[in-house]
Amino acid sequence: CGIVGFVGEKDDALPFIFNGLKRLEYRGYDSAGIALAASSGIAIQKTRGKLAALGELLASLPSGVPCGIGHTRWATHGRPTDENAHPHTDCRGEIATVHNGIIENFQALREELMAKGHVFQSETDTEVIPHLLEEYGGAEDLEGAVRKAESRLEGAYAFLAISSRHPDRIVAVRRTSPLIIGLGEDANYLASDFSAFLAATKRAQILENGDMAVVTPRSVTITNLAGDMITRPVITVDWDI
Ligand code: GLU
Repeated sequence: CGIVGFVGEKDDALPFIFNGLKRLEYRGYDSAGIALAASSGIAIQKTRGKLAALGELLASLPSGVPCGIGHTRWATHGRPTDENAHPHTDCRGEIATVHNGIIENFQALREELMAKGHVFQSETDTEVIPHLLEEYGGAEDLEGAVRKAESRLEGAYAFLAISSRHPDRIVAVRRTSPLIIGLGEDANYLASDFSAFLAATKRAQILENGDMAVVTPRSVTITNLAGDMITRPVITVDWDI
């Protein structure tokens, strides 16, 4: 339902992501969660219920981590439980993803991945994404794996992916569901809605259908599924929150 991402040079991702999720509360949700990409591994907290419940769990996440993703979930596949809350991870816990929308062909992908030995932790359609990324070597080559995984997914969706082996980037895909990049000074942001990052920046790039973005603290690279470079205009949002 709601997506927030933060990748910076020095600032802590956690407070930004939690505040961004609060800005998206008005959309409605049944669960929420945050994952941080530290070189020691992916650290996750997620829970069914309100953001206040997630807030109580955040003290156990490492501090000072400048890359992470967050999600408020409106369940479509799988009940609203702690296990089904996003972010979801691969088997090794090196990749984490948050996802809005629906993966229509998740059942077939899930069976294919289970036959290859992947163990699933949730009932969601979303969880095929991190397992596909793992299958395609995403911990090391996150961008390449996202491109391969994207060609296997059917549906209307947007997702973000992070890897503990490259804690300096977020890879994002937009297929129908909205996704916007916020441009900061020494940090960049991603969200399903401007309101998540307008307190930090008013400069933004709107991803179009079929766009994939690799976002680091000081760069944004947008390509299409085939890998061709794409330019999206930088806009200035002239409304206040
Ligand atoms: N289909 C996903 C799920 O049920 C994402 C739902 C959403 O957009 O929040 O977990």
